[in-house]
Amino acid sequence: MLLKVESIRNKSLKRILEHSVYILILLVFIPTFLFFEILVVLPTVAEQWSVAYFIHLICIAFLLVNIVGNMLFGMLVDTSIKGKLLGSDKTNWSFCAACECLRPPRSWHCETCDICILKRDHHCTFFACCVGYFNQRYFINFVLHIFVAMVYAFYYNTRYVASFMPWDSGLLIIKFIFPLLCFMIDFGLNSLYVFLIDINFIVALFTGYLFLFHSDNILKGRTTPEAKHKTNHDKGWKYNVIDVLGSRWYLTWICPFISSPLPGNGIDWEVVDKQE
Ligand SMILES: [Zn+2]
Ligand SMILES: [Zn+2]
Repeated sequence: MLLKVESIRNKSLKRILEHSVYILILLVFIPTFLFFEILVVLPTVAEQWSVAYFIHLICIAFLLVNIVGNMLFGMLVDTSIKGKLLGSDKTNWSFCAACECLRPPRSWHCETCDICILKRDHHCTFFACCVGYFNQRYFINFVLHIFVAMVYAFYYNTRYVASFMPWDSGLLIIKFIFPLLCFMIDFGLNSLYVFLIDINFIVALFTGYLFLFHSDNILKGRTTPEAKHKTNHDKGWKYNVIDVLGSRWYLTWICPFISSPLPGNGIDWEVVDKQE
């Protein structure tokens, strides 16, 4: 009984932490970067209201719409088994003790979401929900656009900082390695800019890795757990991509609002044997 109470408490704490993550991204991380890029860095890159200035503004708006849009769609599109199981052939289905029902192949139970997820890939901390059959398109595009935004910002941010801080100065290197320490010795705007570039660099590396890892799985027709267990539903890279991004897969990177219907229902899968 005590253990159960403890587990419920841990679960609630995890949920609160997760909800803080996306609130931080939406209300702190994105606005701080926008403020820095548009009001501090951009005026040093292009003359205000020039053609180049507008081109940069359009690029920033494009990335912003894609990051926030894909994030919201990823969180709001229901990819669980809820209300989706009637009328299917239930051979090869397995029983979920937690949901107390049969679930289709490739569906797995998520302890945090407390439900089975269709073609479950993983539980995403940024979305505070699982990535599965119906929202994987938004997840992969969210990661891609954050990566592009971070590389784009990093190029101009480093040029901006280099314009008033010499690169060979030892202090600058210390600031980059220990950004938080800098606030104690030099709480100025320069320390804040170096700190932002540090975050910029770490997020670029992290999302770059995530994008490569998940793209590889998508191209090979497998989910993250299937990659671990060496199984897949490979039907050739093009079909595999369509099965995640939909029939208009080549347009989904442009905008999360573009409709791109998925070929399946996330329920009916052919059974595949373990490889090797
Ligand atoms: Zn379940
Ligand atoms: Zn989950």
